[in-house]
Amino acid sequence: QSATFENGSPRKTLVILGSGWGSISLLKNLDTTLYNVVVVSPRNYFLFTPLLPSTPVGTIELKSIVEPVRSIARRAPGEVTYYEAEALDVDPTQKTVRIKSLSSAEEHAEINLNYDYLVVGVGAQPTTFGIPGVFENASFLKEIPDAQEIRVKVMNNIEKAATLSPTDPERKRLLNFVVVGGGPTGVEFAAELQDYIDQDLSKWMPALSKELKVTLVEALPNILNMFDKSLIQYAEDLFKQEKIDLKTNTMVKNVTPTVITAKCGDATEDIPYGVLVWATGNAPREVSKSLMTKMEAQDSRRGLLINDKLQLLGAEDSIWAIGDCTFYPGLFPTAQVAHQEGDYLASVLKKQYKIDQYKWQSSQNSAESSKYQAKIERLQSNIKAFKYSHQGALAYIGSEQAIADLAVGESMYQSAGSFTFLFWKSAYLAMCLSFRNRVLVALDWCKVSFFGRDSSV
Ligand code: FAD
Ligand code: NAD
Repeated sequence: QSATFENGSPRKTLVILGSGWGSISLLKNLDTTLYNVVVVSPRNYFLFTPLLPSTPVGTIELKSIVEPVRSIARRAPGEVTYYEAEALDVDPTQKTVRIKSLSSAEEHAEINLNYDYLVVGVGAQPTTFGIPGVFENASFLKEIPDAQEIRVKVMNNIEKAATLSPTDPERKRLLNFVVVGGGPTGVEFAAELQDYIDQDLSKWMPALSKELKVTLVEALPNILNMFDKSLIQYAEDLFKQEKIDLKTNTMVKNVTPTVITAKCGDATEDIPYGVLVWATGNAPREVSKSLMTKMEAQDSRRGLLINDKLQLLGAEDSIWAIGDCTFYPGLFPTAQVAHQEGDYLASVLKKQYKIDQYKWQSSQNSAESSKYQAKIERLQSNIKAFKYSHQGALAYIGSEQAIADLAVGESMYQSAGSFTFLFWKSAYLAMCLSFRNRVLVALDWCKVSFFGRDSSV
């Protein structure tokens, strides 16, 4: 794509950081002929996170829920440059981003990219609240390598335990799988794990499968706190029936390679574990933290502060931030929010292009500058604030049951059970990024219902 448009005006450079829900939704909706578009992300694919909890136990194959950035970029109307790189630092004054290439063999594979406009969509990292031992001993469930690591740990522990005598306490420890965090990530994964034990392992290793125990630890009195009370009750009752050991009001304080220590009221409890999955929510990434330190307006530790047009406070003229890396009251760190923000930003950038065109024309023709100024002001006032439309929340809770808290107009409707599970399935199929993903996910579900889950590592 040439550096200028046909009329001689410069084509501005738009750098997009990240290839997640926010950035990919922007890229899919953006008229990429209007900018010199550069995408920077260490992950060269989009990951459909809602089905990630289904992958460690083999309900869904990892390849079914990813879509390469290059295939998305190829479908864009204009050229898109992609760097498989991590953004290390943003300089909002010089308008540069320092990036470190992950694919280059060179030791100093760092370069500075200039931008006119920057979109920060780097997501968040799992939080540990500084609890000792979590990083060293637990697995998170955020990215593909996390799911692969959990799978290996689960399968290895089962095989190791099978070599030990049923009276050996080490066997009991290896077979205790603990999930910390009763948000939707922890709940969906605990549910998938119990399904795997009940539906698959029970056929091949009936005795051992009875010894396996899934424990879910939550600091608050209930799990799934963003759902309606009736749905929370439904999920907790089902967990009891499924024999998932639900420990609420229990806050983990320390983790060693074999034991977690938790506080439950005044009592302290040691829970030996074989596999530990940690899902206690989000914290800002290093690049976001470093950007926050550069601007006085950025005085929150929860995420990048933005205004109602998703502009970064302190750099409103050149930087937007979307998705989990941001903090704005009422906008939660969900795929739904990030997706709608990406969509919205694509339409804003279209208007911004027109504004920039008028600015350029005005600079070329000073006699008519007041005419252009009026057009610019009209377009600027046309850029409305981002309005989030909440469609509801869904979660899989095991035994082919799901819960749904659905928004219909101003009202919320609740539903739970097997029919809701079918709705959950169809909603996620519809949400898949590509037709290819949709077919692969549907085939995975069919395969599991005919042949069971593939538990090979
Ligand atoms: P992400 O999708 O996390 O994308 C961030 C991108 O930035 C990634 O491509 C990453 O590689 C890249 N990146 C990271 N660091 C850098 C860097 N330094 N430089 C450049 N790029 C970088 N939400 C729902 O609404 N419904 C659900 O059912 C649901 N299920 C979930 C299940 C799981 C297991 C998880 C973990 C989350 C789930 N979420 C769900 C939440 C949802 O995934 C997030 O809210 C969403 O991914 C946020 O989108 P994002 O674009 O901000 O970040
Ligand atoms: P979360 O923030 O929703 O939940 C984390 C839970 O961990 C909280 O309930 C918290 O009380 C608990 N916790 C924190 N510290 C603890 C400790 N020391 N000991 C025990 N418990 C502790 O986190 P998440 O589930 O990872 O979700 C992150 C985001 O992604 C949320 O916005 C969520 O809505 C979204 N998400 C949505 C879905 C869905 O809609 N189905 C699925 C997964 C994630």
